Amino acid sequence: MQWRSVYRVIPVPIFYTDEMADDVGGYAWLGAVWIRARYANDEGLHQHELEHVRQFWTLPIAHGLLYKFVRRYRLWSEAAAYKIQMKFPNGNGVPLTLVGAATHLRSKRYRFGLTVEQAMEALT
Ligand SMILES: [Zn+2]
Repeated sequence: MQWRSVYRVIPVPIFYTDEMADDVGGYAWLGAVWIRARYANDEGLHQHELEHVRQFWTLPIAHGLLYKFVRRYRLWSEAAAYKIQMKFPNGNGVPLTLVGAATHLRSKRYRFGLTVEQAMEALT
């Protein structure tokens, strides 16, 4: 476990575990982050999840509901997180590419139903 922060003053606990859905590398919930153990050195993934924590603290009650029920908000939320993730290296020292981020955004778990072009557009 480690501590990070968002907005300089809000502490964020980060837990390393493999107790999550198989197709997930990490997730954020109520101001905390869980990262799959093998991604402990993936700074891009950390920054992705920390962006979700920032979104949570920006709209503390509404974020979870909007994320769950409003596709457009969920897409905005994920696109913002992937845009930040692309600026930081993964565990191999290489940032996620635009094509890689678009592939993630198109994964079934998000239920966006995006074409490759739509995913790329959401990320730029
Ligand atoms: Zn995300």
